[in-house]
Amino acid sequence: MSQTMQAVICHGPRDYRLEEIPVPVPGPGEALVQVEAVGICASDLKCYYGAAKFWGDETRPAWAETEVIPGHEFAGKIAQIDDEGAARWGVEVGDRVVSEQIVPCWKCRYCERGLYHMCKPHDMYGFKRRTPGAMAKYMIYPVDALVYKISKKLPPAHAAFTEPLSCSLHAVERAGITFDDVVVVAGCGPIGLGMVIGARSKNPAHVIALDLVPEKLELAKECGADIVVDIADEDAEKVVMDLTDGYGADVYLEGTGHPSAVTQGLSLLRKLGRYVEYGVFGSDATVDWSIISDDKELDVLGAHLGPHCWPAAIRMLESGELPMDKICSHQLPLADFQKGLDLVAGGTESVKVSLIPS
Ligand SMILES: [Zn+2]
Ligand SMILES: [Zn+2]
Repeated sequence: MSQTMQAVICHGPRDYRLEEIPVPVPGPGEALVQVEAVGICASDLKCYYGAAKFWGDETRPAWAETEVIPGHEFAGKIAQIDDEGAARWGVEVGDRVVSEQIVPCWKCRYCERGLYHMCKPHDMYGFKRRTPGAMAKYMIYPVDALVYKISKKLPPAHAAFTEPLSCSLHAVERAGITFDDVVVVAGCGPIGLGMVIGARSKNPAHVIALDLVPEKLELAKECGADIVVDIADEDAEKVVMDLTDGYGADVYLEGTGHPSAVTQGLSLLRKLGRYVEYGVFGSDATVDWSIISDDKELDVLGAHLGPHCWPAAIRMLESGELPMDKICSHQLPLADFQKGLDLVAGGTESVKVSLIPS
């Protein structure tokens, strides 16, 4: 094994550099993992541009620490592990493994109660120096990581999609979908498409997908949406009201992070409906809160990360039934990380962009 490797290093907003750095050395119980694929997501962009530049909000700091290797959605092969690590995770050298994006402390109040996705120190790969991410040839899975084997038959980028899919599935779980529900999903990016997949697997009466890009709506159909609405030239509210005798949708899953999708959700929902927010917003969303209270008595729920959803996401990916070749639309070498970030920033052309380090 070479003693140095290529890695992308975040030095600050708009200052990511490809550098030659030492291959990390695993400590006791840790795994050295050769990265096979790492996805780029909106939160990577937020770090890349810095909060002020990308989101137009001067008061928000960028998320990440500097001198960090980005990348929190990845799959790789175990290159080195000791008996302790192998026994803990039930893995061996050569296995393909994914790790949940958060490395919990297992000591805080949340971790003690199984709510590890809210872990107080909140060490996520790619955002903290303590947990370097996957935009490198190798990375370390620390002792406290949640690690799962995943089939080597999947293309690497598909295996790395476990992370965004688990996030979508968690949002779906939060909604408590029942068989007779009419479910609306706002946004058909990676998170929205995963919500469509998850909502469909609960088999409700209808899964309705909303977006502005016709190709993404087509993809939403392949993911299980039975109705798609191009909100550029169709009235989503009319479609939903016609379908529900004027009552409105039972569930609204928001995966765009756009303020207009919030007001849209509140007007599409029936009384006593459930709203789940997964989007990360660049600006404040202003709504009439009395819709939530005395008009509709809504349940408004947040969702973050994909706790307890990774095994299900892996099963879905390994089933081979998802249109993953279309969802994983772009794979680039690590050296083209800038092109990858630009593709994601462009929004409409790509769905999931991944970097392939080796
Ligand atoms: Zn992400
Ligand atoms: Zn914790």
